[in-house]
Amino acid sequence: MIQLKGIEKSYRRGVENVHALAGIDLEIAAGELIAVVGPSGAGKTTLLHILGCLDLPTKGQMHFDGARVDTMGESQLVALRREKIGFIFQQFYLIPGLSVFDNIALPLLFSRKKADPAVIRELAATVGLGDRINHSPSQLSGGEMQRVAVARALVNNPEIILADEPTGNLDSENSEKIFGLLRSLHERGITVVMITHNDELAQRAQRVIRLRDGKICSRQ
Ligand code: ADP
Ligand code: MG
Repeated sequence: MIQLKGIEKSYRRGVENVHALAGIDLEIAAGELIAVVGPSGAGKTTLLHILGCLDLPTKGQMHFDGARVDTMGESQLVALRREKIGFIFQQFYLIPGLSVFDNIALPLLFSRKKADPAVIRELAATVGLGDRINHSPSQLSGGEMQRVAVARALVNNPEIILADEPTGNLDSENSEKIFGLLRSLHERGITVVMITHNDELAQRAQRVIRLRDGKICSRQ
């Protein structure tokens, strides 16, 4: 479903070039549950941004469902992200002034689709917050906020969910709940790629991709 071939990504920092990714070959099949691990600065977030078409590689080829991505223009990338990809971040990124309902529905605004209240309620129920749709984020715990973010990532019916340290700000009980949710999405056929520092969770993925210095140093 996603193929990366010889992917490199460098950033200019002053006069220096930082090689965040230094030659990545990777295939991700539809429906996989993958953990990405590695030390800070290894290139994990950069890789996730490229998988999510948020950023283009400096070098190399990328295909998403057979379509060549690395030569796409911004409007094609926007459409691809909107139709196929859901993102979850360590910091949740909920909008404080909006209710749980409106936070979940937010991506629909960008797709110019109307929110079907029944669908939003069902998503809230899927993440165990069916009775909290009128709450504001400040009335929720961190674990609950991340569950709202999971529901929001699902609102456009994505093929793939990309999560950057989704349990990084959570205690072990809430980490377990978020991982359980991601695993249930995988069981429904959604592809899940999760960056994590939690080895115990990583080992429970189908495949662990370990990055170091912008390269894949092991894939089990
Ligand atoms: P990780 O998520 O594994 O900690 P990142 O992908 O965030 O690693 O970063 C990999 C390397 O690329 C790091 O050296 C980082 O400082 C650098 N980097 C990441 N994003 C940028 C950017 N926008 N501009 C400059 N350097 C960046
Ligand atoms: Mg990172």
